[in-house]
Amino acid sequence: MISESKFQANLKSIQIQIAEACMVSGRNPDDVTLLPVTKNWPAGVVDYCKKAKLVRVGENRVQEALEKKNEISGVCWELIGHLQTNKTKQVIGEFSRIQTVDSQKLLKKINDISLQKNLKTSILLQVNAGSDPAKYGCSIEGADALLDFALSQQNIVVDGLMTIAPYAPEDLDIAKTTFEKLRTLRDHLCEKLDVELKVLSMGMSMDMEEAIAAGSTMVRVGSALFGSR
Ligand SMILES: *Cc1c(COP(=O)(O)O)cnc(C)c1O
Repeated sequence: MISESKFQANLKSIQIQIAEACMVSGRNPDDVTLLPVTKNWPAGVVDYCKKAKLVRVGENRVQEALEKKNEISGVCWELIGHLQTNKTKQVIGEFSRIQTVDSQKLLKKINDISLQKNLKTSILLQVNAGSDPAKYGCSIEGADALLDFALSQQNIVVDGLMTIAPYAPEDLDIAKTTFEKLRTLRDHLCEKLDVELKVLSMGMSMDMEEAIAAGSTMVRVGSALFGSR
């Protein structure tokens, strides 16, 4: 695990990177949230985040997140990894948002359990905007119907959309195109279904700038903050 001072230095340079990317595209840095991705790292790094006033963290695996949650309180946990329907029960009420909802079946399950627990669950719809066979997410073409269904679920609140660009470190144009597609889709959905989809969760350590230029409101950053493993 990295030292706290190294983390603080990384954080500072990422914040500068975000501010510069915002300046280039005429955006307000306050409109871009940094979501530290603490997966694969011990709970201690979540504590670093908390001390640095980063109040939300992203985790990929349900079990790992729940274990850390037992150790650290006072932060909001967002699920950014794929959720299997049979694990939904463990997640509802524990995570402040599920970013990876991509099917009617999962929506229905989340709604049913939220209803049983008498709460509303915030979600993002994950869209496979880069049409990457290696990624989860609904298709761009399927997003209208999925959102329509999500909006009919009384115990679900749809905050926005999420995507992961295809892995292509040598060609960031692929990420750029993917993010622009998600942004265009968001604008289309807002108009067609008369909803506000405020959150566009897109961009990671490698493609943050491209994502911010395309309108990202939340970048999910792991390795640039904590190192790679
Ligand atoms: C791991 C992960 C990230 C962070 O990736 P880095 O390249 O380490 O910044 C972001 N989003 C998702 C969905 C991830 O699984």
